[in-house]
Order: sequence, then C-alpha cells, then structure tokens
Amino acid sequence: MNQFQYSRVTHSNAAVSAVSKEKAAMFIAGGTNLIDLMKRGIVNPTRLVDINRVPLNEIKTEGNSLIIGALALNGPVAESKLVTEKFPLLAQALNAGASAQIRNMATIGGNMLQRTRCPYFYDTTMPCNKREPGTGCGALEGFNRMHAIFGFSDQCIAVHPSDMSVALAALDASVLVIGPKGERRIPFTDFHRLPGDKPQIDTNLQAGELITSVTIPDNGFNKNVHYLKVRDRTSYAFALVSVAAALQIEKNTIRDARLAMGGVAHKPWRLTEAEKFLIGKPVSEASFSEAAKIAMQGAKAFKYNTYKLTLAPNSIVQALKVAAKLV
Ligand code: SF4
Repeated sequence: MNQFQYSRVTHSNAAVSAVSKEKAAMFIAGGTNLIDLMKRGIVNPTRLVDINRVPLNEIKTEGNSLIIGALALNGPVAESKLVTEKFPLLAQALNAGASAQIRNMATIGGNMLQRTRCPYFYDTTMPCNKREPGTGCGALEGFNRMHAIFGFSDQCIAVHPSDMSVALAALDASVLVIGPKGERRIPFTDFHRLPGDKPQIDTNLQAGELITSVTIPDNGFNKNVHYLKVRDRTSYAFALVSVAAALQIEKNTIRDARLAMGGVAHKPWRLTEAEKFLIGKPVSEASFSEAAKIAMQGAKAFKYNTYKLTLAPNSIVQALKVAAKLV
C-alpha cells in the first residue's frame, strides 16, 4: 500500500474542497471496497478524506419520495420500515448483496461506487484497461465467465457488481451530488457509464463531486416486486445474472412495469422495451417470455459466458412470475 495523508471532515462542502485540492485525493466512508483496492495497489490515493462524520445518513420521506443519505448503511436501510413497506424491491436487493457484516459497514453511496469484480482488474500482473488504460483487456480472450453480454466495448467487458443499483435503476431513482460547481441531480440510469474507449471511468461523476443522497419516487411498486439474484453460492457472491422486477397489476392485466438486470453490463441494465411491451398485457408466463425475448435483443456472449444467453431470459421470466405471484 502506498503512503497517503488522512484528514477528517464534518461538512460536505469541506469534503469537496479537500478532495478538489489534490488530484489523487479520494473520499472514504465504509471503505469495504476501497481498502482492498489500496492494499492490492490498484488505486493509490495520495490523501483519504474521511466523510464518516458528515451528517448524511438520514432516511426520510419528502412529499412522495424516499430520500436516503449517502452515508446511510446498507443493512439499516434494508431494515428501515420506510423501505420495507414502500420499496420492498430495494430492501430485497440490498439484502442480496455482500454479507451481513459488510452491509453494516458499507454505505449507500459507496455501494454505487464499488468497482467491478473482474478478476483481471484485481490481478496486477495481468493487462487491464480499467486499471491501467492502454494495457489491453485480459478478460477478452481469458476466462470471461462472469462478464458482460450487453453494452461492452473492445476495451472492457466487465460488469457492475452492485445489487442495490439494479433496483435503484428499475425504480427511477436519482442521485444528488455536490461538487466544486454546486449541487446537481443525476438520473440513476445515467449515473454509471458504459466502458467505450474510457473503461477506467465507471460513472458520470465529475472531479471532486460527492454523492449526498438518493431519491426514489413512490411510483406504487410495493406489492408485486421481486429481486432475483442467480449466483454460484447463496451468500456473499456476486450475481451471474440478477433481475429487478416490479409490476402494477389490476384484474390480471399489467398496468405498469419496471425491469432491470445486473451482472450483464458495465452498468445496471434497464429493460425499457420489455417494460413497454408488458403494459396492457395479461399476467401470464407467455407475456413474460415474450418480454424476456425483447429484453435479450442485441445480447452477445464471449467464450465462457454463453450460458448467460439462456440464464438471463429464464431469470427475467422467473422474476416476473414471482413478482406476479404466479409461483
Ligand atoms: Fe480490465 Fe475490463 Fe478487461 Fe476486466 S474486462 S480485464 S476490468 S478491461
């Protein structure tokens, strides 16, 4: 691990100012991913600005929306009544992530910012354009079983690892950030980016910007929801494929739908065409299978992840069936 300076702040403006002064300074909160990355020499900040004492951990409602402070911890958020009663899809996704110990250490803001778990990114003896731009991509011709089937580039085929982010993308959340130029709000589906020719950049955050909260509008998806996570073991494993499904159903007809997938792209993958198809359709396995077919248009696999071309549509159908209480 490299040597670094450490400072602690108690206000978001002070945090932004401290990080903006130094090119390689970084915020630290729970540190559940960042410390691992530093120990392995994958990221080498010259300064850590500890934001744990900035008062950003409130969970509250404002009008028709839920607002979660960026420093609220994953575990308590998943257990909060405000979340379990009105946003059960988010509670399910949070509980599917990591382990209980990590959920009680990791923050909501940090969850969004966690880096890919591509093994080549963590192995500093291997080429990786995300870790070291221009060195190549070890996964392209390597063991790419966990990798993307949508939205990848010839520079990077990694997937985003967060479960929570898949639910937030489905639920039309937005992220409030503060930076050197003031506050701005980013729609959640624009928060993370595809790799393109700059795979080293995961999000659309600008230099010095700090996430302060996430807002989720209450669009009435509290009854027929399901977060399905398919993984190699039942705990503390990242998704091979996950699906966040939310439906509004009236007399066996789908009135509205939200769908997003994880484990398939460099960002949470919202399935808007499949959602549009589902509106007005009867609640049936046939409707869900057709939606899954639409969702899979454009998918492309690599040598070791062709199984995702079958697993992903099957997972969509299963998640929708559970959400609709057909199983
Ligand atoms: Fe690096 Fe991305 Fe290639 Fe993995 S997929 S080795 S993260 S460039």
